[in-house]
Amino acid sequence: MENRYLRQMVLPEVGTEGQRVLREAKVLVVGAGGLGSPCLQYLAAAGVGTLGIVDDDVVDISNLQRQILFATDDVGKDKVAVAKDRLSELNPQVQLLTFNERLHARNALDICSSFDIIVDGTDNFKTKYLLNEVSLILKKPLVYGSISRFEGQVAVFDGDEGPCYRCLYPNAPQSQIGNCAEQGVFGAVSGVVGSMQALEVLKWILFAKNGQETLKPLLGKLWVADFKSLYFHTWSVSLRADCVCRKKERSLSPDLVETTCQVAPEKTWQDYFGSHPRPLLLDMRSQEEYESHHLPEALWGLDFLEGVSEGQEIYVYCNLGVRSLQRCVDLRVRGYKAFSVKGGLVGLFENEKLKII
Ligand SMILES: [Zn+2]
Repeated sequence: MENRYLRQMVLPEVGTEGQRVLREAKVLVVGAGGLGSPCLQYLAAAGVGTLGIVDDDVVDISNLQRQILFATDDVGKDKVAVAKDRLSELNPQVQLLTFNERLHARNALDICSSFDIIVDGTDNFKTKYLLNEVSLILKKPLVYGSISRFEGQVAVFDGDEGPCYRCLYPNAPQSQIGNCAEQGVFGAVSGVVGSMQALEVLKWILFAKNGQETLKPLLGKLWVADFKSLYFHTWSVSLRADCVCRKKERSLSPDLVETTCQVAPEKTWQDYFGSHPRPLLLDMRSQEEYESHHLPEALWGLDFLEGVSEGQEIYVYCNLGVRSLQRCVDLRVRGYKAFSVKGGLVGLFENEKLKII
């Protein structure tokens, strides 16, 4: 028995087999901040074999009040690089994979796919909804956490049957929009909540892979803590019948927070034909509809998006300009500069001035 893990291996819930299971586990922590710092430290200390860290930020002096992976000399350095150094010192047995980039719809599936479980250590709703979608598509559990002022929340979502984060918050709660910079946070609160997330990750690994029935994860439940009044409460998150987690077919859809906050921008056919050079034109109807008739320059399918440069305008159309609104937001969520063409093909043919095809 290795001395490093002796104190947990003597626990019957862990033992030699549990330690082996932990060593084989791959956990991705998104955000190396107030939540990610303590979470990563406990996961590394416990001997989780592979840890991924996603963060594109550099250490700021104002982070040090709560982001305990970092020291004063680290100010200005990349967070993932410092985190990797610190965690390697703590436990050289852990494989550390760093992603010095911001998670968005175009890289999220790639990054998350090689891990068993995802930890949400982010402080913004956009990424939280994105992680929820990704966890559902990849069917990987998500350990959610959030902090504000003296309050904290943790939940575990299974990424499969639901409930999911969107069942809990179908829309970004306006009252909670704002991050630590805007709302303030008491440093030790992030310590408790980030540690709680680590605890739930470790319990999940041992529960799911080692059949440790006594280590019930916070699955489908929300733990809410008010550290001022010491009010702690746990309740079950109800499944929403119309939620994304109820759908069998899942893809990175426009069903992100942006879609609820943002109206898809529209352009007219006059805008399109008056542009020089003309924007890319995407027919987003079915393949059958496209093959039956389409504008000569219109593309179909998403393959061509690979080569689209940043800032390139993409106009999307359908028959009436309704389906294209959805597709437009979908593309925008993925980082493309897309516009929906108002009225669609019907609108074009009805417009006498533009009856050119
Ligand atoms: Zn749901």
